[in-house]
Amino acid sequence: MEHKKVIVVGSGPAGLTAAIYTSRADLDPLVIEGEPSSTSDQPGGQLMLTTEIENFPGFPEGLMGPELMTNMRSQASRFGASFQTAKVTKVELDTKPFALYTSDQQDQNDPVLTCDALIIATGARSLMLNLKNENELIGHGVSTCATCDGFFFRGQDIAVVGGGDSALEEALFLTKFAKSVTIIHRRDALRASKIMQDRAFANEKITFAWNKVVTELHSENAVLTGITLEDTVTSEKSPLAITGLFVAIGHSPNTEVFKGLLEMDDAGYIITHAGTHTSVDGVFACGDVQDHKYRQAITAAGSGCMAAIDVEHWLESQH
Ligand code: NAP
Repeated sequence: MEHKKVIVVGSGPAGLTAAIYTSRADLDPLVIEGEPSSTSDQPGGQLMLTTEIENFPGFPEGLMGPELMTNMRSQASRFGASFQTAKVTKVELDTKPFALYTSDQQDQNDPVLTCDALIIATGARSLMLNLKNENELIGHGVSTCATCDGFFFRGQDIAVVGGGDSALEEALFLTKFAKSVTIIHRRDALRASKIMQDRAFANEKITFAWNKVVTELHSENAVLTGITLEDTVTSEKSPLAITGLFVAIGHSPNTEVFKGLLEMDDAGYIITHAGTHTSVDGVFACGDVQDHKYRQAITAAGSGCMAAIDVEHWLESQH
């Protein structure tokens, strides 16, 4: 069993910023960075699935999400942070030091890692529509990532579900490839910011299906061929022939392994106080896993910095 002063769980902007700061403070952090998933072949959080980021300060021309994450990882590595490509499967927070189990360990009966302080930066993930054949059609017409899959829909009629910034960002990106993009929204007003709305309304490839929800996904030979929409006001059903459906309806925090161990709100986000302290002394949370309001790369990075400073002060107070 290996003991570390600090373990960071998660490798998005929050986790990597916490790693940069704790490594520069000589705390020799280990980052458990997660595993490749069905939507990304690399860990690194939601920004690995993002296109251009125009609002991260310091990059006047913008930069790509994966490039930002690769840079942050290299920066943490340069100051001595180490990385383990695995998921945390279980934690024990009722004894000190804290104990962790990971997906890459052979024997799941005993923990493989212990730490004095734990920083949770596991982020949040995409919500899905929960339709019957949705999972089987992921990668065969259904997607949650325009960056990853947009290229495959060149010249096709496709749709995006959702009325928030993510949906509009995906739709605008997809107009580079698709013949037409229909934004399907369950109300008659968008939630997205004004600037994104203006861009979407001005784009002639984008049309809106207002007051509509997707009730069925149709496929032939396990490939999406169309959907059925239901009007939320009249209950009328209508078909829409599309070959791509991008789901962009929000996120859920990745807190399953911490359930029952840390105080959380009704949606499962970790509750923090006095900066990034959680309900367990010595456990800290930063980024989207504890923030359902701001959810920006810069706020996640900022709270990762706060977690590192909180850890440093807390470790000093323990000796
Ligand atoms: P969001 O703001 O929560 O929007 C989710 C959208 O999906 C809402 O329009 C919601 O409808 C709809 N929705 C939710 N569940 C649904 C369901 N089961 N069926 C159909 N529609 C459903 O999520 P988000 O767009 O992912 O954005 C999250 C945060 O990140 C926001 O604060 C956003 O501003 C920020 N963000 C910023 C940028 C940027 O600045 N470039 C890009 C992406 C995200 P209702 O409106 O009816 O609730």
